[in-house]
Amino acid sequence: MSQSPSMNRSIVLQSRPHGAPTDANFSLQESAMPVPQDGQMLLRTLYLSLDPYMRGRMSDAASYAAPVALGATMIGATVARVETSRHPDFSVGELVLGFNGWQDYALSDGTGLRKLAGLAHPSSALGVLGMPGFTAYMGLLDIGQPQAGETVVVAAASGAVGSVVGQIAKLKGCRVVGVAGGAEKCRYVVEELGFDACIDHRSPDFAAQLGAACAKGIDVYFENVGGAVFDAVLPLLNARARVPLCGMIADYNATGLPAGPDRLRVLTRALLTKRIKMQGFIIFDDYGDRYGEFFAQMSQWLSAGKIKFREDIVDGLENAPQAFIGLLEGKNFGKLVIRVGAD
Ligand code: NDP
Repeated sequence: MSQSPSMNRSIVLQSRPHGAPTDANFSLQESAMPVPQDGQMLLRTLYLSLDPYMRGRMSDAASYAAPVALGATMIGATVARVETSRHPDFSVGELVLGFNGWQDYALSDGTGLRKLAGLAHPSSALGVLGMPGFTAYMGLLDIGQPQAGETVVVAAASGAVGSVVGQIAKLKGCRVVGVAGGAEKCRYVVEELGFDACIDHRSPDFAAQLGAACAKGIDVYFENVGGAVFDAVLPLLNARARVPLCGMIADYNATGLPAGPDRLRVLTRALLTKRIKMQGFIIFDDYGDRYGEFFAQMSQWLSAGKIKFREDIVDGLENAPQAFIGLLEGKNFGKLVIRVGAD
C-alpha cells in the first residue's frame, strides 16, 4: 500500500494474542488525513519506538496501564516533525518527542510533547537518551546501588536497557557480566561495550558458564528477562544482593505458569536467608521527576564517548508488526526503532 499525502496510515490492534503475537493481531488501516484546528498541529512521524511493554498493552489482563482497545491504534513513543501548526508555541519543522503511536501522522495540542533540539541522532530520544536509557540509569543506580568491585549481571545485555545498565556499572567500577542470545551479541557486548564477560543463554551449559564468570557470586542482578536466566542467577546471588526488577520478557508470551518446582518457595527462601532486596519499578511512575537529572548525565557520558549505543532501525510502518514479533524472540540487535518517514 503506498502512502498518499492525503491519507494517514495507522496500525491498529485487530485481535488480542494468545501466546506469541502474529500478523493477524494487527491491521494496517488508511483514513483521511487529520486537519488541525486552532491550538493544534499536525505531526509527521519520523521514528516509532517498539518496546517490550507493548505486549502487555495488547492483552486485557490487569496491569499497571490500561490495554489498547480493539480497533484502536497501537500506542508508542515517536519522534516527529511539526508538519502544519495552528499552535502558538510550535512552529513548522520543529522536532518533538511524543506518543503518537503506530501511525504516519497525528494531531496534537502540545500536551506531553517535548521539543528536541540539538540532538545529533533524533532517534536516540527513544533509546539511550529516552525511556530505556532512563530505565537503566534509575533501576541500576537507585535500586541496584552498585559499589566498586562488586559483580553486576544483566540480561538482554545487547538491548536498549541492558546495554546501558552494563556500561554504567562499568563506569562505577564494577565487574560486569552480560547475558545475551547468541555469539554475535555476546561478542558485541564484550568487545564494543566493554563488559568483562557475556554468556549466551542459549548454550546448553549456560548455568555453569554463568557460575564460572561470576566466581565471587552476584551482588546486583538487573532483571530484564526472568525465566531460565533467573533460575541460573538465583543460586549465585550473594548475601545482601540487590535485584532491580525491570522486566520479565521471557514470560510475556506465556499462557500459563511454567512446569517444574515451586519457584516461589525457592525464591522467598533465598530472599530471606540471603537478605536479598528485590524491587520492581515502572520507570515514569516511580522516577518521572528525575528525568532531567538522567538526561544531563547521559548527555555528558555520550559526548565524552563513555556510553555507546546501537539502534536496530527497520524501515517502513508496515513492517512494525513483524519487527515487534521479532523483539519478543530476540531478533532485534540493539534498540528497535521503526523509521516511519524520511526526514
Ligand atoms: P531489548 O532491546 O533488550 O530487546 C528485548 C530482548 O530481550 C531481546 O532482544 C532478547 O535478547 C531478550 N529476550 C527475549 N526473550 C528472551 C528470553 N526468553 N530469554 C532471555 N532473553 C530474552 O528490550 P528493552 O531493553 O527495551 O527491554 C528490556 C526489558 O526491560 C524488558 O523486559 C522490558 O519489558 C523491560 N523494561 C521495563 C521498564 C520498566 O519501567 N520497568 C522500562 C523499559 C523496559 P537476547 O537475544 O539477548 O536474548
